[in-house]
Amino acid sequence: MSLLVVGTMAFDAIETPFGKSDKIVGGAATYIAWSASNFVTQINQVAVVGEDFPATELSALAARGVRNEGVQIKKGEKSFFWSGKYHMDMNTRDTLDTQLNVLADFDPIIPESYQDTEFLMLGNLTPAVQMQVIKRLKNRPKLIVMDTMNFWMEIALDDLKKVLKEVDVLMVNDSEARQLTNEYSLVKAAKKIMGEMGPKYLVIKKGEHGALLFHEDSVFFAPALPLEDVFDPTGAGDTFAGGFIGHLAATKDISFENMKRGIIYGSALASFCVEKFGAERLREITKDDIENRVQEFVSLVQFDIELVD
Ligand code: AMP
Repeated sequence: MSLLVVGTMAFDAIETPFGKSDKIVGGAATYIAWSASNFVTQINQVAVVGEDFPATELSALAARGVRNEGVQIKKGEKSFFWSGKYHMDMNTRDTLDTQLNVLADFDPIIPESYQDTEFLMLGNLTPAVQMQVIKRLKNRPKLIVMDTMNFWMEIALDDLKKVLKEVDVLMVNDSEARQLTNEYSLVKAAKKIMGEMGPKYLVIKKGEHGALLFHEDSVFFAPALPLEDVFDPTGAGDTFAGGFIGHLAATKDISFENMKRGIIYGSALASFCVEKFGAERLREITKDDIENRVQEFVSLVQFDIELVD
């Protein structure tokens, strides 16, 4: 098992109908690492941060097996910053500010000890950097999963389309799948992405309405757990990605059947993420908490039915 994760490690400022955070630690790769570290003992992290990024965050992650040899710390520079505001339904949000800072000229370094990775998680990041990471690996990983977002579709669509050609699984939310394909129907969008764009598997996240996994003519649906309190959805998608790839890397099984289980683990982890601001809740949970939550998912969708023929 070896898992390489690349993505932003950042500061976020979040506003929800229930509260507002100051600048807190966030970033796609941060959430992915916290989440995936529940499944695998070692994660090889590639990212860039400024001098302002707390060393305590890197050491807390290191204690969970997240290696930071590939995390560049730029002296005198500032970390990526994102600010967002959620609407009342918490499923939609507006980006208020994106400051690339160190990300603007990120040249990813892949340490020799990171080579021969079997699983690659391309977290949300500049598409050209995602591509560089693929190119700098001497051998193609067994599975490449990619996340992206509307921001990159708007400013770097050509680069994004080039990366798509290289990946096995694309993970986007419903509005991003629509934006990428100009199709309202998610089934048509999936056909277009899998038929013409590169990935052979597609995961469409629908926030509190669950997630869909497409492959050829098969579709699998996982609900999101109905939660009494949703405090902050930031990072839920990345946490989902971490659970998904963490489970696949731990089991080394990339079959469609196992991806279904990956989707359930991803959904379970995401359900914890939203319960507190930032990655706070992800720091607290135990393996038992996760297994209990997966059991709740099983109970949620299990039923007996007798079909009359
Ligand atoms: P999610 O809620 O899963 O979409 O992820 C939110 C996280 O993505 C935040 O912690 C942000 O720091 C990070 N983020 C926001 N915009 C971008 C972007 N354009 N590229 C990479 N990461 C981003």
